[in-house]
Amino acid sequence: MISKKINVSFEFFPPKNEESITSLWTNIKRLEPLEPKFISVTYGAGGSTRDYTHTLVKEIKKNTSLVPAAHLTCIGTSKNEIEAIAEDYWISGIKHIVALRGDKRDEGEKEFSDFTYATDLIKVLKKKFDFEITVSAYPEMHPDSSSMSQEYDVLKKKIDLGASKAITQFFFDVNCYFDFIDGALKRGINIPIIPGILPVTNCKRTLDFASKMNCKMPKSLIDMFDGLDSDPETRKLVATTIVYDQCRKLIEGNVRDFHFYTLNRADLSFAICHILGIRTLGKN
Ligand code: FAD
Repeated sequence: MISKKINVSFEFFPPKNEESITSLWTNIKRLEPLEPKFISVTYGAGGSTRDYTHTLVKEIKKNTSLVPAAHLTCIGTSKNEIEAIAEDYWISGIKHIVALRGDKRDEGEKEFSDFTYATDLIKVLKKKFDFEITVSAYPEMHPDSSSMSQEYDVLKKKIDLGASKAITQFFFDVNCYFDFIDGALKRGINIPIIPGILPVTNCKRTLDFASKMNCKMPKSLIDMFDGLDSDPETRKLVATTIVYDQCRKLIEGNVRDFHFYTLNRADLSFAICHILGIRTLGKN
């Protein structure tokens, strides 16, 4: 067990059907006794799951002891719509927003938007209410960025506008994270930049997403899943080992805060937290 004080947060996404909603609540309840700093709910690329983000965030606030953070994206959205969402959150007591641009539609497809970047969203949110603002950070560079210095400039801009924390895109090579933090400190960026940890259980799907998002997946990691396509149980054990190793190296480098991309499954995050010394002490 690692004895140093570790803080965690967990990310969930709004499910698409009733059955998954029931299972989501079981998973949220399983992680609640670990007393995460916050739990965040993502905001989908349009349609009914967006409305469910608002509902879920408010239900978490009302029915649990957890502190919810609402993800909000701005691309393809009007200023009026964002202001209405912000007002609804604020009066419902939701004061922490993960402010993001969101993904653009395919090349050539035109869409209306009052916003171009996450910075535009932060401006509008902060003008209306004094939200706690968390933003994204990309240790391996966002695919739309042309250089790491652009990455840092944008992060700096977000901080100047009021962001107080960042969560990184998932990564597998801890050195990328440490290099990113070194670069940030050299540029006077000293807000917490929390590593986003993704327990990989579906290697093929992760590879696909990682290549779109510029995240390197080491061959040694891919090899660990070789031959396990039809063996989900062993994949979970492998995933726990990989994430534990990643967290251990980060802790050795003095990281104390971790954000887990749970993919709506509590089991892996729960097991890893237990190994890291975050115990429920009989609370569940
Ligand atoms: P931005 O920070 O706006 O950056 C996008 C690009 O524009 C970058 O290349 C940046 O360098 C450039 N840029 C930014 N600001 C400026 C500026 N002022 N001037 C010039 N260039 C600029 N997506 C969802 O749809 N829903 C979610 O809930 C969600 N949650 C996420 C949570 C985390 C922790 C992370 C890391 C990502 C999440 N995403 C989510 C994905 C995110 O929406 C995409 O990665 C998207 O492509 C970029 O969003 P952003 O807020 O990082 O963009």
